[in-house]
Amino acid sequence: MAEGRTRVTIWNEHRHERHERDEPEVADIYPTGIHGALTEAIEDDETEVRTATLDDPDHGLSEEVLKATDVLVWWAHIAHDEVPNKLVERVHERVLDGMGFIALHSAHFSKIFKRLMGTTCDLKWRHDDRERLWVVSPGHPIAEGIGEYIELEEEMYGEPFDVPPPEELVFVSWFGGGEVFRSGCCYTRGRGRVFYFRPGHEENPSYHHPDIRRVLRNAVRWAAPTPGADPVHGNTQPLEKS
Ligand code: ZN
Repeated sequence: MAEGRTRVTIWNEHRHERHERDEPEVADIYPTGIHGALTEAIEDDETEVRTATLDDPDHGLSEEVLKATDVLVWWAHIAHDEVPNKLVERVHERVLDGMGFIALHSAHFSKIFKRLMGTTCDLKWRHDDRERLWVVSPGHPIAEGIGEYIELEEEMYGEPFDVPPPEELVFVSWFGGGEVFRSGCCYTRGRGRVFYFRPGHEENPSYHHPDIRRVLRNAVRWAAPTPGADPVHGNTQPLEKS
């Protein structure tokens, strides 16, 4: 980490809200892009935020950028296939090496999240529902400062969510249509921490909600790498010879 500040890279495919003419209702909600709203949510004295999008050179994620990233935040929906497999492998290696990774909303279907989970990550969905996002681990650092639940107008995601059982489950959503969903899932992969957080459909203003912003900041703090032992692998000699 650079001088105690967490270096965050926010990656957004930037398709729905790229041009006002394409999807004006999304551009109205996120005039500076979803990555712009996420930056406002996450940036504070403890973080250094940069943004990257699919259309940037190297898709904004050169080796240098990844090396200088402590936590990578990923929003994507309609352009998962445009992310080259080589880049997916590069991000995957960085996570195993200790970089934190936060997958948001429809990033459940991104190549990198599926690679990290090893499952289809499929789910069921429906637009325009009421969501009550319950805190089910009140002592967890990602839920710090949040009340019993957060209520949102959102897209519905329903179980079964085809992911490995989370190591820690922080949020469970209930929807007006009766479905439930594991909305805040923690994993470790190698030395890296991974968090999946459900809200953030592009037609709903969830990333302007103060509690959602708080969760995002908490999640970045949780996912940031902490110093540990240096791993030793490969052929080795007995520690002591008598
Ligand atoms: Zn969505």
